Amino acid sequence: MTLIKTEALVLKTIPFQETSSIVRLFTKEQGKISVIAKGARRMKSALRGYLEPLNYIEAIYYFKITRDIQTLSKVDLLQSFFSNTRDIECTLYGTAVLEVIDKVVRDHQYDDEIFYLAVQILKNMDLHADQCIVLFADFLLAVADILGYKLDTSVCSQCKARLKTAIYNPGSGRLICRDCGRYTSSAYKLSEHEIQFLNDLPGCNFDIEVNISVEPSAAERITQLLIKYLSYHLDYPLNLKSLSLLSEISQ
Ligand SMILES: [Zn+2]
Repeated sequence: MTLIKTEALVLKTIPFQETSSIVRLFTKEQGKISVIAKGARRMKSALRGYLEPLNYIEAIYYFKITRDIQTLSKVDLLQSFFSNTRDIECTLYGTAVLEVIDKVVRDHQYDDEIFYLAVQILKNMDLHADQCIVLFADFLLAVADILGYKLDTSVCSQCKARLKTAIYNPGSGRLICRDCGRYTSSAYKLSEHEIQFLNDLPGCNFDIEVNISVEPSAAERITQLLIKYLSYHLDYPLNLKSLSLLSEISQ
């Protein structure tokens, strides 16, 4: 049994027995793991309040390779994202980041690139509530890139002509030009400005200050397109509950 100390994002917490919790963490050192936080729901527990989703923590746990669930020993809070905001929309985009991680990262799959990306995006969302949707689009684009599915916005995937405007081809999961897409039925057509928006997103260079202008409705559509795009290449649907909730709220 080894004692591991690592930074982690709390993805999900489920009550377990009378006073404990099972917590899913995305750790910097060991990827996605589950830990049991014994007695964490007791009033006097030192773990109480630290294990909420959207918390960025330093966790110490006992690791045994033969166990599915590791034992949490100690937690320090590094940052609690969105704790100072009442912006439900922004909080839901933050939750959507966690949901994407939970769906695209496999258990014990070490990926410090996605970890670093997620922490930076959540920090930026917390600072720039008005840019949450842009940051979420940026996150999806960068995740696709890290997973090996970089979205090509430069040329038509069929005739290789330079793309000014584009149509998303749901059959091939790629962008095509208007000419090639004459007979393609697609819900996603991108204007010149929207292609520019995708090119301007910092992608993996997320330290850059985000200040990109696009209509909120266009940003929402582009986000939907990127989710379709990722689902196509991952070969399973990325149904995000937080975004369904968001669209229910905004109706
Ligand atoms: Zn073409």
